[in-house]
Parts: sequence; C-alpha cells; structure tokens
Amino acid sequence: MLIGQGIDAHRFAPGRRLVLGGVTIPHDQGLAAHSDGDVVVHALCDALLGAAGLGDIGHHFPDTDAAYAGIDSRILLGRVMEALAERGLTVHNADLTIAAQQPKLAPHIAAMRQILAADLGCPPERVNVKATTTERMGFTGRGEGIAAFAVVLLEQS
Ligand code: MG
Repeated sequence: MLIGQGIDAHRFAPGRRLVLGGVTIPHDQGLAAHSDGDVVVHALCDALLGAAGLGDIGHHFPDTDAAYAGIDSRILLGRVMEALAERGLTVHNADLTIAAQQPKLAPHIAAMRQILAADLGCPPERVNVKATTTERMGFTGRGEGIAAFAVVLLEQS
C-alpha cells in the first residue's frame, strides 16, 4: 500500500467554464488556469503521483507547454493512471475535499464520483468527494477561488 496527498487552488476568473471533478457546474465564473482549471483533478493527480513517488503535476505537465493550454484535466489524469499502471499500481480508494464558498456543490457530488471512479478504475464507493465552505474565512471564504485536497491509497500488484 502507498499513500499520497495532493493540494491545489485556483483563482476565479470571469468568462470561463467551471469544471470540478470532471463535471461542468453552472456558475457566473470559472477558474483561471493554463488547463481547464479542474482543481479537484489537479489535487487528485498530485496525490496519485505522490503515492507513486513520481513528483508532481507541474513537473509532468508544465504550464509553460502550449500542448496543455485549455486541456481537459481528465486527459492529464489518464496519463497519470498510465504511469501508475506501468508500475503495477492500482487505486484502492480516494478521498477528496473541495473548499468553496460558492457555488453549492452538493447536487454535483454524485456525478463527480462516477466520473472520477471511472478514470481511477475503481467503484464509486471507493471515491469519496466532500465539499465544505470555510465559513467566509480565507481566500475560498471570500470567494476568490476554490481549493481542493486529495488523499489516495494505491495497491502494488
Ligand atoms: Mg492546478
């Protein structure tokens, strides 16, 4: 068993689609990023890479590389999963937390679990997604952006 954790945060920006955990969520702004800004998938990628001892997402997919401009972050997650598979690593479970004052995420949690479980190759019951506000404190609480936290457990075959 190998454990890993990942953290990411992105700032809100007008005129962008809000994508969290692979789900497009209706909101008046999205997250600024070189990619689609899916902060949940980025934290998850970092947790997976961390558990595997493979560095971090910025090392594998630099934001200076035009190839990743506007990219669907699930494509990056797919590449991380390929790197794990090459090493005989599979996902036992993942636990994700999203810190956002707005929008309300509860209606979208089930869809995120389905999508991420498919990408991780494990049942949705093994992919927990939680959302919390930060009681209007800090950058997420002031509505400046969204943060995500991920913990994963990998099994080596
Ligand atoms: Mg990011």
